Amino acid sequence: MQKRSGKENFPKDILFDCTICAECCRDSGKHRRRIIFSEKEAEEISLASGISKATFSVRSGRKDAYSRRMRKISGNCFFLNIESRLCRIYEKRPLVCRFYPFELREDGSWACAKPSDCEGLGRGEVVRPAHFRRLLKRAKEVFY
Ligand code: SF4
Ligand code: SF4
Repeated sequence: MQKRSGKENFPKDILFDCTICAECCRDSGKHRRRIIFSEKEAEEISLASGISKATFSVRSGRKDAYSRRMRKISGNCFFLNIESRLCRIYEKRPLVCRFYPFELREDGSWACAKPSDCEGLGRGEVVRPAHFRRLLKRAKEVFY
């Protein structure tokens, strides 16, 4: 894991271009995905999809804002379209999905997945600070 501290101290010089491989939307031999999100996000997803919170998620057992955890079907996220590898709730997908392959920790530091976990790392252009600022703006909307 790569970690940097400080709210505005975003990960630097990291190339990333998503290939839509969907590896971050399912379990694999290498990892088990934990797709966690807030109550507010769960309510937004439920409203947009017409599916009850209890159908697509369970309580995570965590004491922080990530109070719910996505259900999976045979290791795939409940909302992953297996054939197209696309997200069925893309516009309302949880913050952790928007952040991936980055992760915002509770102390304000950032972590970045290993290149072996995300084939989009090392491709395309450098991720700009504006990307992280947009994510933080969204985080404020769904967590506070
Ligand atoms: S694992 Fe990385 S490249 Fe693959 S879909 Fe997720 S973010 Fe995109
Ligand atoms: S909500 Fe969408 S983006 Fe997030 S893990 Fe599920 S399918 Fe992937």
